[in-house]
Amino acid sequence: MQAQVLVAGAGPVGMTLALALRRQRVDVRIVEKAAARTDKSKALVIWPRTLELLDIQGCAPVFVDAGLRCGGARILGEGHELVHAHFSRARSAYPYALMIPQSATEALLEQQLAQAGVQVERQVELLSFTDDGARVTARLRDADGREESTAAAWLAACDGAHSTVRHALGLPFDGDTLASDWVLADVLIDGELPNDELTICWRPDGVLACFPIGGRRFRVIADVGLAPDTAEPPTLAQVQALIDRRGPKGLRAHDPVWLNHFRINERKLKDYRHGRVFLAGDAAHVHSPAGGQGMNTGMQDAFNLAWKLALVQRGLASPALLDSYSAERSAIGDQVLRNAGQMTRVALLRNRLLRELRDLAAAALSRLPPVEQHLVDQLTELDLHYAHSPLSATPHGASRQPAAGSRAPDAALNAADGSATRLHALLGDGRFVLISVGAASPAVPKALQGLVSGAHAAQADGYDDAHHYLVRPDAYLALSARGGDAKAIFVWLQRLVAA
Ligand SMILES: Cc1cc2nc3c(=O)[nH]c(=O)nc-3n(C[C@H](O)[C@H](O)[C@H](O)COP(=O)(O)OP(=O)(O)OC[C@H]3O[C@@H](n4cnc5c(N)ncnc54)[C@H](O)[C@@H]3O)c2cc1C
Repeated sequence: MQAQVLVAGAGPVGMTLALALRRQRVDVRIVEKAAARTDKSKALVIWPRTLELLDIQGCAPVFVDAGLRCGGARILGEGHELVHAHFSRARSAYPYALMIPQSATEALLEQQLAQAGVQVERQVELLSFTDDGARVTARLRDADGREESTAAAWLAACDGAHSTVRHALGLPFDGDTLASDWVLADVLIDGELPNDELTICWRPDGVLACFPIGGRRFRVIADVGLAPDTAEPPTLAQVQALIDRRGPKGLRAHDPVWLNHFRINERKLKDYRHGRVFLAGDAAHVHSPAGGQGMNTGMQDAFNLAWKLALVQRGLASPALLDSYSAERSAIGDQVLRNAGQMTRVALLRNRLLRELRDLAAAALSRLPPVEQHLVDQLTELDLHYAHSPLSATPHGASRQPAAGSRAPDAALNAADGSATRLHALLGDGRFVLISVGAASPAVPKALQGLVSGAHAAQADGYDDAHHYLVRPDAYLALSARGGDAKAIFVWLQRLVAA
């Protein structure tokens, strides 16, 4: 069986990529060496920006219906609340952290994939591959040990932190492993612990965080320094002792379904593209769970790559477009690694003076509305942007909001035929959308009509009046132009086709 794109690995990132590719009419094959999906809760949060991108694929509601809406995060110091961030500040249709175990996320993605006509091929392992510049030829092995050679135009390595593809390419995975062990427990908790907020406790001997999963079930994590023996999972009694020492008073943990130790790795590839091979998700970056950005960043790698591969594969854009994948996503990876690392180090401060200063600063600053807004925008990933991308341009007369490279918010629009629609609905087919706000829609040159659809609105929230906006298929603004003069946009699109 041949496909245009071979995806190695059916974790959340590989399945997101396969789904987005399929929705954009790309032939995709996805192979997974494991016999079954994970049954572990692992990544617990889907943040608003990821939900928006799932909305473009038409499937956000199935995730929202299966998850728990969490309204905020609080940090408790010694005896009092230091920080309380309210996710209702998120300027999105999804103003909450959606708590949903990774096992459920994967099940829903696999269901969506099956509905789109793609079956995950389980117990099929990618063993090796060659890239001759025109195609990738991969060697696969199935559960019975039968080997097969298959060719594809592109290989997407979504094969996790121990990526076979990354090893085969000999790519350095630069970074560190933090010198501290962590305890992880999925338990029921009785007592006064809100199940619609994240609770993080900064204590002199370390940090304890409790994330609601649903009902009275919580994920608890806590750092324990260098533990003498991490070969055995922690006991419930050890978890309870950590909760008693660091958590709110009167909590009782019971009925664990998962007890484990882990260490934090902070590693990243420099370049996410090597010839016809792209790396995404944990295969390209791993970081601290602080901020719960790991899986979300990986899924957003997938959305970024999918539309570019689809346009190139369908002959609508030059292959040079594919270089922007690594430029954009590697920069985001650096930023996420930096932010998650800082959050972890601040939480783990041991020096008493530094801790006191930290607590004072956190309590004072986080009460300032702009600071709380910044914290919420960062956690929810609504502030991620590609301002410095080779794809972002700011011609004379460009809008101030959104700026080139920023998220283009969903908005009520009229499609070219006058029917009422929304930006996300139009983006679903993988084309750019040219929105005219408070300006007459320009005629799209015939040669560009396969690449872009038109829409207009008298006014739109988050968009300056009297401008034309070229929105990328992943809902970021490529560029804008003053109303009545869309020439710069057509020149930009022409370059994308011809580069
Ligand atoms: C204990 C634990 C707790 C975590 N908690 C959080 C959290 O709270 N928040 C958060 O954001 N993240 C968390 N993570 C990280 C999160 O789980 C990952 O970021 C996420 O799973 C990455 O998805 P992925 O698809 O890139 O990789 P994976 O989920 O690792 O999927 C890769 C897939 O590729 C398959 N594969 C590997 N090699 C091959 C091959 N050669 N051929 C075919 N298939 C192959 C694997 O079997 C696997 O199914 C946690 C991880 C762990 C282990």
